[in-house]
Amino acid sequence: MAESFKAFVITDVDGKPKGDFTTLTLADLPDNDVLVEVAYSSVNYKDGLAVSGKGKIARKLPMVAGIDLAGTVVESRSPDWNPGDKVVANGWGMSETQWGGYTRFQRMKAEWLTRLPDAFSFEEAMGIGTAGYTAALCVDALERWGTVRPGGKEVLVTGAAGGVGSVAVALLAKRGYPVVASTGRPETHEYLRGLGATGFIDRTALLEKGAPLQKERWAGGVDSVGGQTLVNALSQTAWGGAIVACGLAGSADLPGTVLPHILRSVALLGVDSVMAPQQLRNAAWARLARDMDKNALKTMYDVQPFNALPDLATKILDGQIRGRVVIDVT
Ligand code: NDP
Repeated sequence: MAESFKAFVITDVDGKPKGDFTTLTLADLPDNDVLVEVAYSSVNYKDGLAVSGKGKIARKLPMVAGIDLAGTVVESRSPDWNPGDKVVANGWGMSETQWGGYTRFQRMKAEWLTRLPDAFSFEEAMGIGTAGYTAALCVDALERWGTVRPGGKEVLVTGAAGGVGSVAVALLAKRGYPVVASTGRPETHEYLRGLGATGFIDRTALLEKGAPLQKERWAGGVDSVGGQTLVNALSQTAWGGAIVACGLAGSADLPGTVLPHILRSVALLGVDSVMAPQQLRNAAWARLARDMDKNALKTMYDVQPFNALPDLATKILDGQIRGRVVIDVT
């Protein structure tokens, strides 16, 4: 095992959080019960905020950034995990209150780990990453609601060319639902069609303020944009349908009315991936193992070296990343 290894750590510099590469040893890691040798992490929107310093994500410093990881158990004081077990971890406060995945080794609490489905390599697991696992939670929530049907009314995915959006398009299409992708990047249409999108809507159409009740179009939707986009999605949802809100890439506001809810029984469902209980995580990863087409997944992510992280953080905040980026921490 390496005596010392590279990590990306946020520290306090003149009262402000600042991230940089540094060298850690095993003795520096928190005293949690499972030591994981990390193979890959990934870049999510929240990572962009943390790494660039543009968002105050870490609530204590120093903090190893990175909200997800995939790797192998090396040592364990927990009966639930043995050396050699392949695991994935998403959320649980990583990069906020707990040290995260941008490091070659990390010590994790046993209950934060999810068994990696055999279907996926470490690289593929982080190709999916927290964004993709969140998309799976959203599709689970929509199906529990019960109004999306194969061959039925269309299902809307906003921020479609982003990480959450790309995986949501692929998972929904695999279930036979007609998927309309909302994107501001027409050059991604071919990519999104490859993932299974059957229709497109320019994101500017959803950014304009519209009537509180608009033409009923969607059986449901997955929204990672928030703000006016979410309000329009709700206003265009058919009687009894539901939109799952999971992100704020556009805005954290909700500038709408109650009319879709009280006149059309439209539901606004929420998804938080960070504190989702293990049962929901296992179901989401099982869905991904069953429905995520491996060829589609390959088109969705790039693997980048650890050193590229600061640049990628800026790019994801500028909306310049298509799909997902995996970080090779080795
Ligand atoms: P990405 O940056 O990969 O994707 C976001 C997409 O949103 C962009 O690709 C773009 O899509 C669209 N977008 C960006 N800015 C705007 C804007 N101003 N107006 C309209 N659309 C915009 O991020 P992720 O997919 O990783 O994350 C998406 C959101 O989901 C983030 O807010 C993130 O914090 C949240 N999230 C929440 C989780 C949870 O647990 N609830 C977990 C994971 C993510 P396009 O180019 O196609 O228009």
